[in-house]
Amino acid sequence: MAKPKRARTVRRAVDSDVRKFREHAVKVYAFEAGGSPAKPIVIGGASQIEADAEGLACPFCRATMRVSAHDAIEEEGRRLRRVSLICRGCHTPWQRFYTLAVLN
Ligand SMILES: [Zn+2]
Repeated sequence: MAKPKRARTVRRAVDSDVRKFREHAVKVYAFEAGGSPAKPIVIGGASQIEADAEGLACPFCRATMRVSAHDAIEEEGRRLRRVSLICRGCHTPWQRFYTLAVLN
């Protein structure tokens, strides 16, 4: 039977895996629609924004999120809605960006 790894060695390896996983999850999140001000989600009405944002799973732990703030912002001349979310599981803060569809 192999000699078990010392606890500290195991812990360090786990920490490194967690960090890599989180760095990757943050990149994927930023690349998805709504993950950055450059890629807002187009939505039909302001009243749908918070429900949509709360439907998102935390990229780290897949728990649901809670809206902590909802602001109208302007980014490079575009009017956006920025929703601040807090994960109910790991309490990581996330932001989600929306733009309202212009209906003619
Ligand atoms: Zn989480």
